[in-house]
Amino acid sequence: MPSPETPPPAFAALRVRVEEIDDLDAAQRVLGWDQETMMPPGGAAARGEVLATLSRLGHERLVDDELLALLRELESWARERPREDDGAAIVRVVRRDVDRARRVPPELTAQLARASSDALPVWKQAREDDDFPAFAPHLERNLELRRRLAACFPEAEHPYDALMDFYEPGLTTTAARATFAELRAGLVALIADVRAAEPPAPPGGPFDVDEQRALALEMARAIGFDERSWRLDRSVHPFSQSIARTDVRVTGRFSEHELGGLFAVLHEVGHGLYEHQQDPALDRTTLGTGVSMGIHESQSRLWENRVGRSRPFWSHWLPRAQERLPALRTLDLGGFLRAINAVRPTLIRVDADEATYPLHIVLRFELELALLDGTLAVADLPAAWNQGMRELLGVEVPDDRRGVLQDIHWAFGELGYFPSYAFGDIAAAQLWDAATADLPQLEDELARGDASALRAWLAARVHRVGRRLEPGELLRRVTGSTYDPAPLLRHLRAKFAELYGAPAR
Ligand code: ZN
Repeated sequence: MPSPETPPPAFAALRVRVEEIDDLDAAQRVLGWDQETMMPPGGAAARGEVLATLSRLGHERLVDDELLALLRELESWARERPREDDGAAIVRVVRRDVDRARRVPPELTAQLARASSDALPVWKQAREDDDFPAFAPHLERNLELRRRLAACFPEAEHPYDALMDFYEPGLTTTAARATFAELRAGLVALIADVRAAEPPAPPGGPFDVDEQRALALEMARAIGFDERSWRLDRSVHPFSQSIARTDVRVTGRFSEHELGGLFAVLHEVGHGLYEHQQDPALDRTTLGTGVSMGIHESQSRLWENRVGRSRPFWSHWLPRAQERLPALRTLDLGGFLRAINAVRPTLIRVDADEATYPLHIVLRFELELALLDGTLAVADLPAAWNQGMRELLGVEVPDDRRGVLQDIHWAFGELGYFPSYAFGDIAAAQLWDAATADLPQLEDELARGDASALRAWLAARVHRVGRRLEPGELLRRVTGSTYDPAPLLRHLRAKFAELYGAPAR
């Protein structure tokens, strides 16, 4: 009998199959990146066919009976290994992926894909025309298909658990409800206090677009961007896509009128760094990537907000920014920090500031649950949306274009995705507290423009773990608890007390 130290022969066969699945996925990522950055618009239809074929091949390989047989053969060996052992983790995590993929009938997968590609152009037009009723039948259809998808996982306590599980393994609706209730109460009170003070205006431009790009690249390099393994390109919506650990693509877009593009690059570099600092032992295993949408978002938000809107960071970068962008020379550090941290409830989620953003997510979470339960009819969704915006953010929604039709997610049929954004903010605050406890010099280092200690800490504690641990397990190990909104609320209260003199209750 082979010792548990030497993997059984079946493990080598498993690896070959898993590497193939990972390669097919990487090919889709290259094509997806190309589609958003380089492809001429006329290529869209042909690209859609290629991506569909690759996706089908990947799915077929994942649900292949021989792969399942290999996993079964390796299970008892894997159980005797420590939980984080590479081989054991590969068997366990791939088994989970296989089980989930096998549960969903191929015709349902095809219907889901078809429904979202049918809905997308209708949603785009409906948003342009401010015509919710035109989109409503497609939302009905997506909702009905997601109910059927959830029903493939009858063991879930709540159907929404099954949907969230695609983005946030292990997170339950019960836990999310409790977290969002705490977040909602804390933020509504905070925002009421902050709004009592007049919000400062954002920094006024003009800001040269090429200079902004050059500055963003300098900052990105300080975080971990190097030309050998990274690219920064242009796209309509900034995003990050890693093809491999050593091939990370981020995109940005800059406007002459505001500095949002700089923060978007910090955000995307945070995503990219998570992929770039994976453990090489997990290359081509499907485990060498972010563990969940929420943890991924925690990495982008940590660099964008915790580092990128902080006093130490800008005490280093503001003089450099002022050299490149003369419009900033009228601001001192305090004025600049107030301007980039202004709290101003807005209609649009993607424009929201650090304090109001999570409330946009709370609203979507509550509405998705009600839609899925059937307690809210699709026809009544716009009114419920507008009511929610009034209660949570105190804003009046003038039309559905800037209300219920603003996001692409429901057109895609992606229900259960939104919570991950808020869980990212929550985890970023927890991880930041853990990092600053371990790295007492961190603020001084950031004030010298040196992010290397934080980068190394994240690599060791979060990035290199890959998908070996579930998100809740990972957070508990690093921070002592699973998703907990208290550190985020504490941070925001302290920050706005310092910036605006709002009461730090
Ligand atoms: Zn993000």
